[in-house]
Amino acid sequence: MRTKLIAGNWKMNGTLADNELLCKSIRTGLAGVDASQGTSVVLCAPSVYLSQLQSCLAGSSTIHLGSQDVSSHDKGAFTGEISTAMLKEFGVRYAIVGHSERRQYHGETDAVVALKAKAALAAGITPIVCVGESLAEREAGLTNDVVRRQLAAVIHENGHCISEIVVAYEPVWAIGTGKTATPEMAQAVHSVLRAQLHAASSVAAERVQILYGGSMNAANAASLLAMADIDGGLIGGAALRAADFLSIIASAK
Ligand code: PEP
Repeated sequence: MRTKLIAGNWKMNGTLADNELLCKSIRTGLAGVDASQGTSVVLCAPSVYLSQLQSCLAGSSTIHLGSQDVSSHDKGAFTGEISTAMLKEFGVRYAIVGHSERRQYHGETDAVVALKAKAALAAGITPIVCVGESLAEREAGLTNDVVRRQLAAVIHENGHCISEIVVAYEPVWAIGTGKTATPEMAQAVHSVLRAQLHAASSVAAERVQILYGGSMNAANAASLLAMADIDGGLIGGAALRAADFLSIIASAK
């Protein structure tokens, strides 16, 4: 039985003051929620704020710290990159890899994403591997091919560790647009991904949480999270509003 995972991707948003308020409101909102109830929460903040968030989340067993990216390299001449070792110093437990905005604006290929996942796994950080098709790819009937190709690269590079990843299905056309995949549309892709994991490892198919991301909000979360293969959400815009984010977490039973 897989537990639910709700991850907030703050993207390039926040200030010290805003983060303090948001983090404290989420902590307070979840104060009565016991980790044993199952749902885990991750806050993926911009890297410069990880130290602030580490302090804010100290002692919480339900809310974990995540980064929005990670380098595939250990150290050295990679200006602007942040290594797994650096993230670990700040208590980071999860790292988003292959977000469509990184693929689109920073030219990250499937191979790069797979190496980032590998670096995270080697350091004991759980990679949240994002996959998803563009609108043109969906309209051309290529959705399953695209997500399978993206996940295959990660499976190929990470072999026996594959049961330690989290997958996030994020249709690019639904991210930040207010257009959400219907629960049935999302479930159809999640089941394709589950089958692919099963072909790689029955343990992985059983264990790996597959999140949905793309304009998930307080109003649509419950119906998406009710689907058999939707094990949580990766939330952008709604994660910046404590009440909405808490409402999504409450929908994840
Ligand atoms: C995201 O950034 O991963 C995301 C899903 O954003 P939004 O919820 O705003 O669509």
